[in-house]
This record gives sequence, C-alpha cells and structure tokens, in this order.
Amino acid sequence: MHVRTLVRCFTAALAVTFALAGGQAAAAPAAPAAEDRTLAPRILTYDASAAAEFRAAVDRGAAIWNESVDAVELRPVAAGQRANIRILADNGWPRAYTSSLGNGTVYIGRQAVTQGYNTVRISSHELGHILGLPDRKPGPCSSLMSGSTAGVACTNPYPNAAEKAEVESDFGGAFARSAGAPRNVMTVG
Ligand SMILES: [Zn+2]
Repeated sequence: MHVRTLVRCFTAALAVTFALAGGQAAAAPAAPAAEDRTLAPRILTYDASAAAEFRAAVDRGAAIWNESVDAVELRPVAAGQRANIRILADNGWPRAYTSSLGNGTVYIGRQAVTQGYNTVRISSHELGHILGLPDRKPGPCSSLMSGSTAGVACTNPYPNAAEKAEVESDFGGAFARSAGAPRNVMTVG
C-alpha cells in the first residue's frame, strides 16, 4: 500500500516533468519571430517636397543614414500621407525641431549654404538630430554632429562609429520606451 502510493507520486512527478519539457518545446519556435521583430528597422517617412533646390541633397542624406544603420530606415512619404519628418528650405541657418525621437521638422537654411557649407553634410547632420543625436561641437570632420565647427572644407556626410551606435541603440531595444517621451528639442545648426 505504502509502496503503491510512492509509485503513484513518482508517476505524477514524471507527468509534470514531461509537461514542462513539452511546454519548452512548444515555446521554442516563437523565439525566431521575436528576434525578427527586434531586427526589423523602424520605418520613418520624410517629406522633402518643400526642400526646393536641396531635395537631391536631402535624398542623399537619407540614403546615407540607410547605408549606415540597421535599426531605422528613412523612406520618402507616399503622396497624401503625413510624414514623420518634414524638410523645408529657407533663408536662415540650418536647424531641426524634434518633437519626439524620429519625428520633427528640418530646415535646410541657405545661410550656411551661401557660406560654403556642403548641402549633403547639412542634410545628413540635421536628419541626425531627428534620429536623436545632439550637436558635438567643436569637433572634427570625421564627426557628422560636429556640424559647422569642422569648417566649410569638410564635406563628410557620414556618421562616425559612435554616432551610428547611438542611433542603433536609440531605435533598437530601447525604442519602445524612448519613443513615447516628448522631447521638443530645437537644435540650431
Ligand atoms: Zn546640429
């Protein structure tokens, strides 16, 4: 009688063990799907229809970011849709208004272009602000966010390794947490 009870307990324990193993086996196929979601780039649309003579430079700046990072992708907005990023031309100094990470308005200011600054570097730099990067001034030409402090001779439109890593991090796992936080940052230059 006593022995039979022990056997029954052992059998129950085995059943629990199998159920756990079954549970793990069933959960395993879900892992790659979760990974795919993490690796998929965050799509941000931009509207350069009001960027006037800087439209090609803006497209190039967006393409440079797409070449440089995996976590976010900039795409021209479809007609009639509201873009995450609006890009305009005006006569002031280039600047970016960031309403939240990945959202805002960029002005490609002719004042800097008249002084001789490179339009693709300006575009890429201002998009960098929308992607969460602050100015790093003064700084070398190898830094995109050194902006105008690298001088008019600097035409480098590419983010450096640290700048790329910062954007990857902002739009990677932390995106869901940081995206909702209001920023409302205005960055001149
Ligand atoms: Zn700046």
